[in-house]
Amino acid sequence: MPRVYNWQLGREMEYAYEGARPRRQFAGVFDINKCIACQTCTIACKTTWTSGPGQEYMLWNNVETKPRGFYPVGYDVEILSALGPQRWDGERYAGRTIFEAAPEGERVLGWRPDALDYANPNIGEDEIAGQIDRGAAFGGEHPQWMFYLMRTCNHCTYPACLASCPRGSIYKRPEDGIVLVDQDRCRGYQECVRGCPYKKVYFNPVTGTSEKCIGCYPKIEQGEASQCFAACIGKLRIQGWISTPEQAREDNPIDYLVHVRKLAVPLMPQLGLEPNIYYIPPIHVPESYLVQMFGPRAPAAVRAYREAREDPVLRGLLVLFGSTNRIVWRFRVQNDVAVAYGEDGSELVRVPVTEPVVVRPAMDRLYQIRRENTT
Ligand code: SF4
Ligand code: SF4
Repeated sequence: MPRVYNWQLGREMEYAYEGARPRRQFAGVFDINKCIACQTCTIACKTTWTSGPGQEYMLWNNVETKPRGFYPVGYDVEILSALGPQRWDGERYAGRTIFEAAPEGERVLGWRPDALDYANPNIGEDEIAGQIDRGAAFGGEHPQWMFYLMRTCNHCTYPACLASCPRGSIYKRPEDGIVLVDQDRCRGYQECVRGCPYKKVYFNPVTGTSEKCIGCYPKIEQGEASQCFAACIGKLRIQGWISTPEQAREDNPIDYLVHVRKLAVPLMPQLGLEPNIYYIPPIHVPESYLVQMFGPRAPAAVRAYREAREDPVLRGLLVLFGSTNRIVWRFRVQNDVAVAYGEDGSELVRVPVTEPVVVRPAMDRLYQIRRENTT
């Protein structure tokens, strides 16, 4: 197999094809700490792209509760168990990826869910990691934990769906790195469903072809953010482009969060796909779980996030999340104002970093009413 460089692993690895990075790579950062599991992103995607026959069960965007929620059931547990030990030497991955662990004659270590595994997309919702003792009361700290994990296709740099397809029906667009299934070529072998460890390709039993997130490419081509980004109630998503670490720019919001400040980390980087959706990890979750799910950079990302409140640039960038429906190419924070710019350098939005505080007297003499704070 050809060898390619995967910066998330800090080393080369085997892949089915020669490496060919796109001219620009679709990317986003999600701040897990802000998610309220309202599922607006899920429904925005569902009503836009998957309301047709055979698509009923598909959620190209889903939000699950970790550690007990999955869609489809057990997708991460299955592949992490099949892969065996995943050892890191610092930030260099010393274990095998799903390409390197592929059985003889195959390109990817995969597994295919049963139809019923997709039947309960909200399984485990709001369930916590352990038990709460009878009579326990809140003592200022939450001894148990859970968090919401929002997931879409990662438009991976080394997609396992693409590597698994025996007909070459899956391709990665050179102009933006979006991964698509050619509906005319696909014959429904479902090798991509088996190969994608994130289970973000879905078989449509009516058309007999596989379908997946298209990154809302008609919007991307117009400079607009994808539906799940634009609709997010929690304002926890920012969409842009990611560079390789050597080419990272300080004024590119995704580069700044991932490469410069190392606040955002990929989901299960050890699998070897170099996924392009990044997460600011939850700050209240045990380190061992974070490392398993987000790699060895996760604990430092949590520390950096905790310190962000003291950092004017990071605070500014964090308020730009969800502040525009356009793709953010560049940003700047100055004099307590954060500004986002589009492709041509025009200003998309400006947001005050510190919200002004307004104190109103309880008695409103104009309307002759008294306002009480009842919360
Ligand atoms: S997340 Fe899965 S479906 Fe999306 S590009 Fe990666 S391997 Fe393919
Ligand atoms: S819309 Fe935003 S806040 Fe709501 S579930 Fe989706 S990611 Fe979470």
